[in-house]
Amino acid sequence: MQDHTLTTVAEESGFKKTGRTDEVTRLCAAFAAAWPRAVHSLEFGRSAEGRPMRALIACRADPRKVPVLMLQGGIHPGESDGKDAGFIALRELLGETAAPGVLERIAILFVPAFNVDGHERFGRWNRPNQNGPEETGWRTTAQNLNLNRDYAKADAPEMRAMLGLIRTWDPLVCADLHVTDGADFQPDISLQAEPINQGDAHLYPLGRELRDARARDAQHYRGSRRAPRRARR
Ligand SMILES: [Zn+2]
Repeated sequence: MQDHTLTTVAEESGFKKTGRTDEVTRLCAAFAAAWPRAVHSLEFGRSAEGRPMRALIACRADPRKVPVLMLQGGIHPGESDGKDAGFIALRELLGETAAPGVLERIAILFVPAFNVDGHERFGRWNRPNQNGPEETGWRTTAQNLNLNRDYAKADAPEMRAMLGLIRTWDPLVCADLHVTDGADFQPDISLQAEPINQGDAHLYPLGRELRDARARDAQHYRGSRRAPRRARR
């Protein structure tokens, strides 16, 4: 039977709702308590309004000796799918109902709600073009900064905390999870990977390989359609 304390608000509501910041606090603590040898819950910074920024590191080996996959949810809090699906995926990985043994070979660094102040600015009309959840957070931070435009200038305390987290854990792959609310695409999921168009050209084949392999995987998911795409240089 499913441990209720590890279940998301999204699941409990039939995917009509998403949880607020207190759910992130509750689930991070519950995951660390349920798998004390494999999960570590950490606070890696504070938001402009003083809210704790939380992450989980999940691994069944020494996480400093295996490749780290970073999953980042909630850079835009109305886009809650990454947070909700991230907790579900992590629970299935830890319970070994999905990809058994993988956490012995890699570590997953999961940030459920990067823009934690925006996440708590909850309302029914924050994302009017989007098909749910019923209420969501707000795109920008309490200082009205869009974190997705702040990686280089690092004006936001949240971004400075994130850059510190990335420097500490040095992930091999960072997955930044968004939702599009302004366009109605037929495919469920689209993938963009870098370096493919910029950065070190020697890494372009690896970037393309990573993107194309994940796109091939997505074809096998029930009900999922792969995004058509055109190779670009
Ligand atoms: Zn976004």
